[in-house]
Amino acid sequence: MGELTPIEKFREFLLTKGERLTRERSIIVEEVFAKHEHFDAEDLIARVARDKTGRRVSRATVYRALKLLEDAGLLRKVARPNGSEVYEHDYGYPQHDHLICAKCGALIEFTNEAISAIVDKICNEHGFNKSGHRLEVYGICAKCNAPPNRRHRKLDLV
Ligand SMILES: [Zn+2]
Ligand SMILES: [Zn+2]
Repeated sequence: MGELTPIEKFREFLLTKGERLTRERSIIVEEVFAKHEHFDAEDLIARVARDKTGRRVSRATVYRALKLLEDAGLLRKVARPNGSEVYEHDYGYPQHDHLICAKCGALIEFTNEAISAIVDKICNEHGFNKSGHRLEVYGICAKCNAPPNRRHRKLDLV
């Protein structure tokens, strides 16, 4: 089976819901999948609002599209310890896990084959058919752990 592009996959999902891939939704999907990063709804609203073509996408449309993209399995939410949530690609991007800083909210991505192997082994033991896994490790990042005189200014943090 060929890999569908995010737009194609989203269009298929919308069809099953009896909904259309509108121009605004296409703009949103293109923007979201232009590069891999963690973003929140407000970031995305700001990005599609200053689309150079001059087209505007409303806040309500962005929120609705994000929910649909999540339901379609294209995006997933990652919760931060402060209660805020960010989105990231859940389609066409390799399996990875996160270290999440409780202080600055930084999300550090990592992959580790030994962890994947352990998860596979556990699934086998339970006769469980795995479709993916997510591991979130909470703590304090290296920057926040540094002594105050060597700590980066807040502006330097992403
Ligand atoms: Zn931190
Ligand atoms: Zn990630």
